[in-house]
Amino acid sequence: MYSSDSDGLAAARVQLVSYSARLLGDGLAVGSAGNMSVRVGDTVAITPSGIPYDGMSPEDVCVVALDGTEHDNRETPSTETPMHLAIYAATSAAAVVHTHSPEVIALSASRDELPAIHYAITGLGGPVRVAPYVRFGSEGLAAAAAGALDGRSAVILRNHGAVTYGRDLAQAYDRALLLEWLARTYRMALSYGEPATLSAAELDEVTAETRRRRYGEPRGGGRTGQHRGGRP
Ligand SMILES: [Zn+2]
Repeated sequence: MYSSDSDGLAAARVQLVSYSARLLGDGLAVGSAGNMSVRVGDTVAITPSGIPYDGMSPEDVCVVALDGTEHDNRETPSTETPMHLAIYAATSAAAVVHTHSPEVIALSASRDELPAIHYAITGLGGPVRVAPYVRFGSEGLAAAAAGALDGRSAVILRNHGAVTYGRDLAQAYDRALLLEWLARTYRMALSYGEPATLSAAELDEVTAETRRRRYGEPRGGGRTGQHRGGRP
């Protein structure tokens, strides 16, 4: 940890190391693949490039400004830093998780979208788009990912992986696990033939009911504009 760190930044370093250690065990990445970041004010704490997760320490976590200016880092920030910054610029994200998880990569090679075969997909904003292939670490990939996130908190990157974001790292990480589970479930459903999917109206109904139960709103109307959650 650095003496110049704010409390928020120091906490973000520790949290990123802790969640990075989970990536491998949860099957969301192998080796040093994948990366994650947390926004703290006008700076972003992001995992370093090329450091194996089991050997990462809080001091290895890098700090960059939202405009891309690097702070005094011991390591090199993730190669996907441009993509993380583009997502902070385009969304309400407070944390971003990028995985190389096998189910979404398999899907990305043959589908343009992860369809809604389970209502839990409302937790990601609806059917998840597959963004076109662009080389890793490029501004083009950053733009493609941010653009495909419109109204969603998850995007699948063709022949590459996936990105989720949330109001904090815990939520962004849970969404990465949910996305991988949904992709696996869809693949299993395909083995029976063409699966039935939920309509936009059915998904809207789920979203409205989830909100009502969370905030105790009266059924069929009542308060509107009370959306305080991180869901887009
Ligand atoms: Zn990647």
